[in-house]
Amino acid sequence: MMEKIRKKNPMPFNLPRRLQRMGDLTYNLWWVWNLDAQSLFKYIDNLLWDEVNHNPILFLQQVQRPLLNKAVQDLYFLEKLDAVVEKFDTYLAAKETWFKTTYPDLEDELIAYFSFEFGLHESLPVYAGGLGILSGDHLKTASDLGMPLVGVGFIYKEGYFMQSISEDGWQDTRNYYLNFDEIPVIPLLDENGKPVMTSVDLPGRTVFARIWQVNVGRVELYLLDSDLEENSPNDRQLTSRLYSNDLDVRISQEILLGIGGVRALRLMGLKPKVWHMNEGHSAFLALERISEIIAAGKTFDEAAEIVKENNVFTTHTPVPAGNDQFPIWLIDKYFAQTWPKLNISRDQFIDLGRQAQSWGDSFVMPVLALKLSNQRNAVSKLHGEVSRGMWQWLWPGVSKENVPITHITNGIHTGTWIGRQMNDLFKKYLGSDWQDRADDVEMWNNLDLIPDHELWAVRKHLKRKLTIFCNERARKMWKSGNYHPIQVVASGVLMEPYSLTIGFARRFATYKRANLILNDYERLLKIVTNERMPVQIIFAGKAHPADEPGKLLIQQVYRAVKDARMGGRLIFLEDYDMNVARLMVQGVDIWLNTPRRPNEASGTSGMKAALNGGINFSILDGWWREGYNGKNGWPIGDHVDFQDTYQQDQIESRELYETLENEIIPLYYQSRSADNLPNEWIAMVKESIRSNAPLFSTQRMVKEYMKMLYLPATENIIENKPVKTKKGG
Ligand SMILES: *Cc1c(COP(=O)(O)O)cnc(C)c1O
Repeated sequence: MMEKIRKKNPMPFNLPRRLQRMGDLTYNLWWVWNLDAQSLFKYIDNLLWDEVNHNPILFLQQVQRPLLNKAVQDLYFLEKLDAVVEKFDTYLAAKETWFKTTYPDLEDELIAYFSFEFGLHESLPVYAGGLGILSGDHLKTASDLGMPLVGVGFIYKEGYFMQSISEDGWQDTRNYYLNFDEIPVIPLLDENGKPVMTSVDLPGRTVFARIWQVNVGRVELYLLDSDLEENSPNDRQLTSRLYSNDLDVRISQEILLGIGGVRALRLMGLKPKVWHMNEGHSAFLALERISEIIAAGKTFDEAAEIVKENNVFTTHTPVPAGNDQFPIWLIDKYFAQTWPKLNISRDQFIDLGRQAQSWGDSFVMPVLALKLSNQRNAVSKLHGEVSRGMWQWLWPGVSKENVPITHITNGIHTGTWIGRQMNDLFKKYLGSDWQDRADDVEMWNNLDLIPDHELWAVRKHLKRKLTIFCNERARKMWKSGNYHPIQVVASGVLMEPYSLTIGFARRFATYKRANLILNDYERLLKIVTNERMPVQIIFAGKAHPADEPGKLLIQQVYRAVKDARMGGRLIFLEDYDMNVARLMVQGVDIWLNTPRRPNEASGTSGMKAALNGGINFSILDGWWREGYNGKNGWPIGDHVDFQDTYQQDQIESRELYETLENEIIPLYYQSRSADNLPNEWIAMVKESIRSNAPLFSTQRMVKEYMKMLYLPATENIIENKPVKTKKGG
């Protein structure tokens, strides 16, 4: 069944004619990675732009009419506007993309990319963290490369949550309520103007979901939303929040994403050739595709073979307990109706997701995904090794090295994470098209052309921006009258832009060890408050609301932040989101990451810091194990894993302090040349950018997905002719 679908930008603005196209810009997230487009809004009203959290729709709704009228008279502005609009139109219409040139025969072969969350921008808060940011960066890059890809996920009306920290360091949470008139979502409607609805059968009822489209450059993202009159009050809440701890909600969401997502694409008449499950949450999509093929007359085994051929699965979890899984009774509850339809027994069904004996009895989504895809990958080299070990039992008799899970190391979308002034500098010395060649290793050698003083001026500017942000947030808190003075201090009122500044921002989960640097408290105190060579440390990050140990970790860090003896040099920035992340990765000198190896599958925030000239100082885990080359930053620990975690913390924290005291701090402060430039530090900044930026870009990453996984998944299609490619890609 395919419906006729209407899509029309809602356009809730009343703009002067000459500014109409600004309205178009707001309904495509292209502006998120085009700084010139953002400048248009900032130019009209810089303060409002910050006030509306960089949301251009809200901006155009709230901006004062006289300011718009003034813009209409401003030739400089109009010239900028026309240039941006032309760039936007050219981008959307482009014929010569990387994809079209490299794979001319594959233009019509659609790739469907399923993910539980998509982090595209802070003004569309439907993400929780790393997985979402990666999905968002994947879509943006697919758009840049001209890849025929669509995304499928959820719009969470209440987002993840907003965080504030109480005076005694406890994490308080508040929910958002998204106003759909203020976000760039386009409703998919049928001929009668009613929402197009997909549906799934859950125990005793059918649950419906409507579909919202978000334009991400040339890529379309479809977000499902169950808040419909047709559903019971409980089901209307189904897609309200991310990562519910209620297993009934979780499994219902995953059924809706996987099965409802396939049906949504069918409603639109789409026939993807490649189905990418980013993490196991969407693995039920394989079952829906099997049902479709069985309905066309094949057996379960035949259908499973066909489906596997063009499924791609990416695992992100290096620990068995971290894998998304459900108790067997819940599978009985939700799927008893399904196995007869698939012509298999209950046991055969349960076997599709059955856990290894030693891990207890549960139905594991990554197991389902691994069994029903022929293309599988982990997200860094080390994570590949760990994953092959973890899942070896699924391939009895196969040696660990030969377990068929490859790796594609994560990356970041350059245009999203680059600081404005750094972008200008790269344009000047690497070429105005440098972002299109972000994965070109040779190009980055031209960094040597940048004079030290210019690079250092940009670094100082970015740190000053971060400082001002912290100061202003603290000022707002103080002025609101709702905060204790100590909370104002903790927010960075005493932060200044001259000291060596370390950033630590990530989810507060215990394995990430935000408290490793507090291990020897007195030693840290000395380091931080050294009058000649002071150090500032900025912490940020949320704990999952149900993660008590994570919240205790925040409290422990906050206690140190509040300690007067630290002199206000430790800071906790509340409510870590993409905005805070951008300011931090662009502004700090050192990016610190101290996970318990090998628990960090990849990590990406350090890549963002490196792109902007921050230097990584981290455990050799995840991406940094590949990124560290002996001269582009500092390692903590060695290439070893520990059995005894207490011992591990002792050894690694000691090394952390030693490297800080003996190498990092002296290099930053003591190598000043006559012109007051820390030349050796700047040399390392250059090496950090040069070595990391091309390798850990999503340009490199998405091209690898194409070559290593999507292409085989396309070629595998049983009925299909083999595909020719012009060049290797
Ligand atoms: C980049 C990013 C992450 C992921 O960073 P990690 O290195 O995996 O901790 C999480 N949250 C936000 C807001 C980010 O921008």
